[in-house]
Amino acid sequence: MTPDEFRTFGYAAIDWVAHFLEHTRDYPVLPEVQPGSLVDALPKEAPESGEDFGQILEDFEREIVPRSTHWNHPRFLGYFANSSPGEGIIAEMLAAALNPNGMLWKSSPAATELEQVTLEWLRQWMGLSPGWFGQILDTASTSTFHAIVAARVRKGHACSDASLVLYASKHAHSSIEKGAMAAGIARDNVRLIDVDDKYRMRVDLLEAAVERDLAEGRVPFCVIPTIGTTSVASIDPVREVLALGRKHGMWTHVDCAYGGSTAVDERYRHLLDGADEADSLVVNPHKWLFVPMDLSVLYCRNAEWMRNAFSLVPEYLRTQGDERAVNYHEYGVPLGRRFRSLKLWFVMRAFGRKKIADLIHAQIENAKWFAGVLEADGRFEVCAPVEFSLVVFRHKGGDEVNTRLLDAMDRSGEVLLSPNVLDGTKVIRLAIGNLQTGRADLEKVWELLREATPTEG
Ligand code: PLP
Repeated sequence: MTPDEFRTFGYAAIDWVAHFLEHTRDYPVLPEVQPGSLVDALPKEAPESGEDFGQILEDFEREIVPRSTHWNHPRFLGYFANSSPGEGIIAEMLAAALNPNGMLWKSSPAATELEQVTLEWLRQWMGLSPGWFGQILDTASTSTFHAIVAARVRKGHACSDASLVLYASKHAHSSIEKGAMAAGIARDNVRLIDVDDKYRMRVDLLEAAVERDLAEGRVPFCVIPTIGTTSVASIDPVREVLALGRKHGMWTHVDCAYGGSTAVDERYRHLLDGADEADSLVVNPHKWLFVPMDLSVLYCRNAEWMRNAFSLVPEYLRTQGDERAVNYHEYGVPLGRRFRSLKLWFVMRAFGRKKIADLIHAQIENAKWFAGVLEADGRFEVCAPVEFSLVVFRHKGGDEVNTRLLDAMDRSGEVLLSPNVLDGTKVIRLAIGNLQTGRADLEKVWELLREATPTEG
């Protein structure tokens, strides 16, 4: 592509993005397509000779967009909804233009130091004390996996050691169990501790499990409380869990992949109470800090613990060793590293802390408003306290009714909610995280739900 062609097609692409961002509500949130439809629509083999770029852009619009689930839609309210604002989109394009590989300081001083700067800013915004070492990874699953590996190394056990035990709550995200699996921890040695009536890890049961494991000769090495669980956004008693973990020489990791962003607003900082005392924590700006996928932040209390777990420097990666020059590849699995901090920098600067805090506050207020509407109706029940922007609810008519409601929402193309099972019954999750989701969107969701709700039952 020549620079002139780049201008032509680049402007056309930007025009498309601008139109898309302005009219996202006009697109169906969930495409009406069957599995395999794109595979069937596209050629079976790649082209031998280059194709016309205008045609490629047309095919993007004709084949890709209609088969996309639109996470950037303001009524995408499933899973943990997220946002890709213009500021982040522009940053992604510029990062691709520079195309650095931030494995070493020398391989990209800007990418390396911007990661240090933005993570220091984020640390301050979250009210964490000085000294945390941050690194950017792709997802919370990867971040938590890194924490588990570092925990195992600090404990001084070999990967095959079958006695190591890890603890989290029954409502912890599956990434914790998966991280343990990938780190070579025996599946049977992941203890998912039962919760209280507010879905918080029960410290008495945690203590009993630890005592039992110790008595049976096993080695408790890691405990992971969550702030903002995926199922109900519950908050484990972090302070007590961490104290117990420390007492038994365990690594303490806090999963606040979703809930952590709220600390940017001082009104919600108490929700992170105790997290500052952990050995590591994960927070995902790509979930609820309005930064495009993907960007997860792993903070570790002591950079050397990460380095001990992951540093391996072959001759071809050896550098001068200036102590201000951080070589991020020494602190994690990936060698090659994308310039992810650029989009964090753009969003943090363009929005500013106050605007982000106000957005988060408004989304939490909207979630509480929606929960109130459901409760007032009488046919629905809200199944867990609404502390963040997640509302978990069900129609009192039972599983079948809730399944039909979810299907109706999917078919409408107007909204995406997501299913879960809580205490053995089907529930519906509504998670606000998109920048553009406003009260009118929730009113629309309520209208759609009411229309689909059976009059009897
Ligand atoms: N932790 C929590 C609490 C989550 O809700 C999720 C995903 O929703 C994860 C971890 C995993 O996040 P990721 O998709 O970034 O791996």
